[in-house]
Amino acid sequence: MSRTTVATVHLGALRHNLARIKQLAAPAKVMAVVKADAYGHGLERVARALDGEADAFAVAALGDGLRLRAAGHRQRIVVLSGPDRASDIAEMQRLNLDAAIHHEEQLHWLKEASPSRGLLRVWLKVDSGMHRLGFAPEAVSFVHAQLASMPGIDPDIGLLTHFAESEVFDGTETPAQIARFTEATQGLRGPRSLSNSAAVLGWASARGDWVRTGGLLYGLSVVDGKVGADFGFRPAMTLSTRLIAINRIGKGERIGYNGTWTCPEDMPVGVAAVGYGDGYPRSAVAGTPVLVGDRRVPLIGRVSMDLITLDLREAPDAKVGDRVMLWGPELPVEIIAAQAGTISYDLTCGMTRRVLFVEDED
Ligand SMILES: *Cc1c(COP(=O)(O)O)cnc(C)c1O
Repeated sequence: MSRTTVATVHLGALRHNLARIKQLAAPAKVMAVVKADAYGHGLERVARALDGEADAFAVAALGDGLRLRAAGHRQRIVVLSGPDRASDIAEMQRLNLDAAIHHEEQLHWLKEASPSRGLLRVWLKVDSGMHRLGFAPEAVSFVHAQLASMPGIDPDIGLLTHFAESEVFDGTETPAQIARFTEATQGLRGPRSLSNSAAVLGWASARGDWVRTGGLLYGLSVVDGKVGADFGFRPAMTLSTRLIAINRIGKGERIGYNGTWTCPEDMPVGVAAVGYGDGYPRSAVAGTPVLVGDRRVPLIGRVSMDLITLDLREAPDAKVGDRVMLWGPELPVEIIAAQAGTISYDLTCGMTRRVLFVEDED
């Protein structure tokens, strides 16, 4: 029996989730966001599962576009932060990657690029209030005109913006961003793309021509207090391991590093082979649920590099070798993330190389 921590990626869930996104977003097209190694699920694996279904893939960096082309994918690939340096432009032309253009500096590089390498498709990124990447609303029509005048640029220029808190469904920031974007792009031709996952769920008015969904593809929600299943999505990752020890520890004894948890009575304490060295969050607090067989039991003490400790009083039949599930369809990763003071994306992205990845068709 292997003690390796295993991340199982559910290909059927990925396909289900994309179909559900398409249904919610229609008639908008869908960019499947596969940046950060597909939110930790594996870039090539996810792209293979969704090939032919996603209208385009979106990645953060050129290197991911290269990996997708090397794997044989032919559809559109949008590089969300565009070229990072002048030489990236020729590479993007060669690989036929769409480039988001968000900064003055990139316009200089584009002017110097050779149109003979082929037309580059671009998305003009508008900063509608997030203040990370993008041109200020008042600069948009001028930048658009500049791009439209460049011979190497495909005249069908996309218009893109990103929301800062679209998961706050009753907030005022998203409508304000939608309004700024609409005004800044008034009268300009080209496809619009505003929505990330949460906006697909909460802001129908921001559907535009293309949605860019990452989280929902993996069944993950960032809406406070909600999990992907609440919106009809299925988790695409199960993280599991085994119980490798069960010890009876006496009343008053303290568990693990720094003895942060004290046994209130004589009790069985389970030890499972997973820790922050695998990507299980060290910040998970005592009480974080863990599944042993089909029982939810609380984490106790500190998460260590290779091991966690569990209160097995509610799982008297547990045996060494039992399967332990850290998250998956029966235990949403959103719940674990909340207990660790972060979001689900952070956890799935954080799987380390020690974790063995397997796939199933489910
Ligand atoms: C990551 C990202 C997305 C996807 O966000 P999700 O919340 O995962 O859907 C969309 N657009 C941009 C620009 C991004 O950086």
